[in-house]
Amino acid sequence: MIQLSRRTLFGASAAAAATLASRRVFAQVAAPAAASGPFTLPPLGYGFDANEPHIDAMTMMIHHDRHHAAYVANLNAAVKDQSQVAALPLQTILSKLGEMPETIRTVLRNSGGGHANHTMFWTVMGGKGGAPIGELAAAITRDFDGLDKLQAAFNRTGAGVFGSGWVFVTVTKDGKLALVARPNQDTPLMDGATVLFGNDVWEHAYYLKYQNRRPDYLAAWWNVLDWRAIGSRYAAAKAGTLTI
Ligand code: MN
Repeated sequence: MIQLSRRTLFGASAAAAATLASRRVFAQVAAPAAASGPFTLPPLGYGFDANEPHIDAMTMMIHHDRHHAAYVANLNAAVKDQSQVAALPLQTILSKLGEMPETIRTVLRNSGGGHANHTMFWTVMGGKGGAPIGELAAAITRDFDGLDKLQAAFNRTGAGVFGSGWVFVTVTKDGKLALVARPNQDTPLMDGATVLFGNDVWEHAYYLKYQNRRPDYLAAWWNVLDWRAIGSRYAAAKAGTLTI
Protein backbone atom coordinates (compact mmCIF):
# COMPACT_ATOMS: atom_id res chain seq x y z
CA MET A 1 0.00 0.00 0.00
CA ILE A 2 1.35 3.37 -0.92
CA GLN A 3 0.91 6.00 1.77
CA LEU A 4 3.60 8.54 1.36
CA SER A 5 1.90 11.89 1.64
CA ARG A 6 2.35 14.27 4.52
CA ARG A 7 -1.39 14.85 4.51
CA THR A 8 -1.98 11.16 5.22
CA LEU A 9 0.30 11.35 8.25
CA PHE A 10 -2.15 13.42 10.24
CA GLY A 11 -4.76 10.70 10.17
CA ALA A 12 -2.42 7.78 10.79
CA SER A 13 -1.71 5.95 14.05
CA ALA A 14 1.54 6.73 15.83
CA ALA A 15 3.15 3.48 14.68
CA ALA A 16 2.03 3.93 11.12
CA ALA A 17 3.13 7.53 11.25
CA ALA A 18 6.59 6.46 12.39
CA THR A 19 6.80 3.99 9.52
CA LEU A 20 5.68 6.62 7.03
CA ALA A 21 8.11 9.14 8.46
CA SER A 22 11.01 6.73 8.18
CA ARG A 23 10.06 5.89 4.60
CA ARG A 24 9.99 9.58 3.84
CA VAL A 25 13.42 10.09 5.40
CA PHE A 26 14.75 7.08 3.53
CA ALA A 27 13.41 8.51 0.28
CA GLN A 28 15.15 11.79 0.94
CA VAL A 29 18.45 10.14 1.85
CA ALA A 30 18.29 7.77 -1.09
CA ALA A 31 17.33 10.39 -3.66
CA PRO A 32 20.10 11.38 -6.09
CA ALA A 33 19.47 15.03 -5.17
CA ALA A 34 21.18 14.32 -1.84
CA ALA A 35 24.42 14.71 -3.84
CA SER A 36 26.06 18.03 -3.12
CA GLY A 37 25.91 20.92 -5.53
CA PRO A 38 24.41 24.35 -6.05
CA PHE A 39 21.08 23.01 -7.30
CA THR A 40 18.53 21.39 -4.99
CA LEU A 41 15.30 19.48 -5.40
CA PRO A 42 12.50 21.73 -4.14
CA PRO A 43 9.87 20.10 -1.91
CA LEU A 44 6.45 19.59 -3.50
CA GLY A 45 4.67 21.81 -1.01
CA TYR A 46 1.77 19.34 -0.80
CA GLY A 47 1.27 15.61 -0.44
CA PHE A 48 1.84 13.14 -3.23
CA ASP A 49 -1.89 12.41 -3.10
CA ALA A 50 -2.96 16.07 -3.32
CA ASN A 51 -3.76 15.75 -7.03
CA GLU A 52 -5.81 12.55 -6.72
CA PRO A 53 -7.79 11.27 -8.48
CA HIS A 54 -6.59 13.19 -11.54
CA ILE A 55 -2.90 12.50 -10.99
CA ASP A 56 -2.15 9.49 -8.80
CA ALA A 57 0.18 9.58 -5.79
CA MET A 58 2.56 6.97 -7.23
CA THR A 59 3.08 9.03 -10.38
CA MET A 60 3.70 12.14 -8.27
CA MET A 61 6.21 10.31 -6.06
CA ILE A 62 8.18 8.80 -8.93
CA HIS A 63 8.00 12.01 -10.93
CA HIS A 64 9.26 14.25 -8.12
CA ASP A 65 11.57 11.98 -6.11
CA ARG A 66 13.14 10.14 -9.05
CA HIS A 67 12.75 12.00 -12.34
CA HIS A 68 13.14 15.54 -11.04
CA ALA A 69 15.79 14.42 -8.54
CA ALA A 70 17.79 12.89 -11.39
CA TYR A 71 17.75 16.15 -13.36
CA VAL A 72 19.07 17.97 -10.29
CA ALA A 73 21.77 15.35 -9.67
CA ASN A 74 22.90 15.37 -13.31
CA LEU A 75 22.94 19.16 -13.36
CA ASN A 76 25.08 19.28 -10.21
CA ALA A 77 27.43 16.66 -11.66
CA ALA A 78 27.81 18.72 -14.84
CA VAL A 79 28.85 21.90 -13.02
CA LYS A 80 31.05 20.12 -10.43
CA ASP A 81 34.27 21.35 -12.08
CA GLN A 82 32.72 24.46 -13.64
CA SER A 83 32.66 26.96 -10.79
CA GLN A 84 31.75 29.92 -13.03
CA VAL A 85 28.68 28.13 -14.38
CA ALA A 86 27.79 26.73 -10.95
CA ALA A 87 27.59 30.28 -9.59
CA LEU A 88 24.99 31.38 -12.16
CA PRO A 89 21.23 31.41 -11.56
CA LEU A 90 19.50 28.63 -13.50
CA GLN A 91 17.52 31.07 -15.64
CA THR A 92 20.77 32.73 -16.73
CA ILE A 93 22.32 29.39 -17.70
CA LEU A 94 19.24 28.53 -19.76
CA SER A 95 18.88 31.89 -21.47
CA LYS A 96 22.60 31.88 -22.41
CA LEU A 97 23.11 28.24 -23.34
CA GLY A 98 25.13 29.26 -26.41
CA GLU A 99 27.71 30.90 -24.12
CA MET A 100 28.06 27.88 -21.85
CA PRO A 101 31.06 25.49 -22.12
CA GLU A 102 30.45 23.21 -25.08
CA THR A 103 31.44 20.09 -23.12
CA ILE A 104 28.48 20.46 -20.74
CA ARG A 105 26.03 22.38 -22.93
CA THR A 106 23.82 19.39 -23.72
CA VAL A 107 23.57 18.38 -20.06
CA LEU A 108 22.77 21.97 -19.10
CA ARG A 109 20.04 22.02 -21.73
CA ASN A 110 18.45 18.69 -20.79
CA SER A 111 18.97 18.57 -17.01
CA GLY A 112 18.89 22.33 -16.44
CA GLY A 113 15.74 22.56 -18.55
CA GLY A 114 14.31 19.58 -16.67
CA HIS A 115 15.05 21.19 -13.32
CA ALA A 116 13.44 24.49 -14.34
CA ASN A 117 10.39 22.88 -15.96
CA HIS A 118 9.61 20.64 -13.01
CA THR A 119 10.23 23.37 -10.44
CA MET A 120 7.59 25.45 -12.22
CA PHE A 121 5.30 22.43 -12.70
CA TRP A 122 4.97 21.61 -8.97
CA THR A 123 4.15 25.21 -8.06
CA VAL A 124 1.17 25.48 -10.42
CA MET A 125 -0.41 22.21 -9.25
CA GLY A 126 -1.79 21.01 -5.92
CA GLY A 127 -4.92 23.13 -6.34
CA LYS A 128 -8.55 22.46 -7.09
CA GLY A 129 -8.83 23.78 -10.63
CA GLY A 130 -11.71 26.12 -11.32
CA ALA A 131 -10.94 29.41 -13.02
CA PRO A 132 -8.54 32.33 -12.64
CA ILE A 133 -9.73 35.67 -11.33
CA GLY A 134 -8.73 39.32 -11.62
CA GLU A 135 -6.04 40.52 -14.03
CA LEU A 136 -5.08 37.02 -15.13
CA ALA A 137 -8.67 36.18 -16.03
CA ALA A 138 -8.88 39.42 -18.03
CA ALA A 139 -5.62 38.64 -19.84
CA ILE A 140 -6.85 35.13 -20.74
CA THR A 141 -10.05 36.62 -22.14
CA ARG A 142 -8.08 39.23 -24.08
CA ASP A 143 -5.43 36.88 -25.52
CA PHE A 144 -7.30 33.57 -25.87
CA ASP A 145 -10.96 34.61 -25.97
CA GLY A 146 -11.58 32.96 -22.59
CA LEU A 147 -10.49 30.00 -20.46
CA ASP A 148 -12.46 27.41 -22.44
CA LYS A 149 -10.70 28.36 -25.66
CA LEU A 150 -7.30 28.49 -23.96
CA GLN A 151 -7.88 24.99 -22.56
CA ALA A 152 -8.96 23.63 -25.94
CA ALA A 153 -5.95 25.14 -27.73
CA PHE A 154 -3.55 24.10 -24.94
CA ASN A 155 -4.83 20.51 -24.94
CA ARG A 156 -4.66 20.32 -28.74
CA THR A 157 -1.09 21.63 -28.68
CA GLY A 158 -0.11 19.19 -25.91
CA ALA A 159 -1.67 16.25 -27.74
CA GLY A 160 0.25 17.26 -30.86
CA VAL A 161 3.71 17.16 -29.26
CA PHE A 162 5.46 14.22 -30.94
CA GLY A 163 7.36 12.17 -28.39
CA SER A 164 8.35 13.95 -25.19
CA GLY A 165 7.94 17.62 -24.41
CA TRP A 166 5.98 20.38 -22.79
CA VAL A 167 3.21 22.85 -23.55
CA PHE A 168 3.49 26.29 -21.96
CA VAL A 169 1.75 29.62 -21.59
CA THR A 170 4.37 32.36 -21.66
CA VAL A 171 3.96 35.94 -20.48
CA THR A 172 5.68 39.15 -21.44
CA LYS A 173 6.44 41.98 -19.01
CA ASP A 174 3.40 43.86 -20.30
CA GLY A 175 1.26 40.83 -19.47
CA LYS A 176 0.68 39.40 -22.95
CA LEU A 177 0.08 35.65 -23.00
CA ALA A 178 1.12 33.14 -25.65
CA LEU A 179 0.84 29.37 -26.13
CA VAL A 180 4.01 27.46 -27.07
CA ALA A 181 5.22 23.85 -27.20
CA ARG A 182 8.80 22.66 -26.75
CA PRO A 183 10.43 19.23 -27.26
CA ASN A 184 12.26 17.24 -24.57
CA GLN A 185 13.17 19.45 -21.59
CA ASP A 186 13.48 22.63 -23.60
CA THR A 187 11.78 25.70 -22.12
CA PRO A 188 10.88 29.17 -23.38
CA LEU A 189 13.41 30.38 -20.77
CA MET A 190 15.99 29.34 -23.39
CA ASP A 191 14.61 32.10 -25.63
CA GLY A 192 14.63 34.65 -22.81
CA ALA A 193 10.85 34.33 -22.39
CA THR A 194 8.99 33.97 -19.08
CA VAL A 195 6.86 30.92 -18.31
CA LEU A 196 3.49 31.47 -16.65
CA PHE A 197 2.59 27.78 -16.44
CA GLY A 198 3.04 24.58 -18.39
CA ASN A 199 2.19 20.90 -18.56
CA ASP A 200 4.55 17.96 -18.87
CA VAL A 201 3.53 15.61 -21.69
CA TRP A 202 6.36 13.12 -21.21
CA GLU A 203 4.87 9.65 -20.74
CA HIS A 204 6.33 9.49 -17.21
CA ALA A 205 3.88 12.25 -16.24
CA TYR A 206 0.77 10.18 -16.96
CA TYR A 207 1.45 6.62 -18.15
CA LEU A 208 0.66 4.74 -14.90
CA LYS A 209 -2.90 6.08 -14.84
CA TYR A 210 -3.64 7.08 -18.42
CA GLN A 211 -1.36 4.77 -20.46
CA ASN A 212 -1.53 6.00 -24.08
CA ARG A 213 -4.47 8.34 -23.44
CA ARG A 214 -2.54 11.61 -23.30
CA PRO A 215 -5.63 13.70 -24.24
CA ASP A 216 -7.43 12.37 -21.13
CA TYR A 217 -4.47 13.39 -18.95
CA LEU A 218 -4.35 16.85 -20.56
CA ALA A 219 -8.07 17.34 -19.92
CA ALA A 220 -7.87 16.12 -16.30
CA TRP A 221 -4.79 18.24 -15.45
CA TRP A 222 -6.81 21.45 -15.31
CA ASN A 223 -8.60 20.05 -12.23
CA VAL A 224 -5.41 20.23 -10.15
CA LEU A 225 -4.23 23.70 -11.11
CA ASP A 226 -3.70 26.25 -8.36
CA TRP A 227 -4.97 29.42 -10.03
CA ARG A 228 -4.00 31.50 -7.00
CA ALA A 229 -0.38 30.40 -7.44
CA ILE A 230 -0.58 31.08 -11.18
CA GLY A 231 -2.09 34.50 -10.46
CA SER A 232 0.91 35.24 -8.23
CA ARG A 233 3.23 34.12 -11.02
CA TYR A 234 1.39 36.46 -13.40
CA ALA A 235 1.85 39.42 -11.04
CA ALA A 236 5.54 38.54 -10.61
CA ALA A 237 6.01 38.23 -14.38
CA LYS A 238 4.55 41.69 -14.90
CA ALA A 239 6.80 43.04 -12.14
CA GLY A 240 9.82 41.42 -13.79
CA THR A 241 10.57 39.24 -10.78
CA LEU A 242 9.45 35.81 -12.05
CA THR A 243 12.57 33.76 -12.73
CA ILE A 244 11.70 30.07 -13.27
MN1 MN B 1 8.51 15.19 -16.07
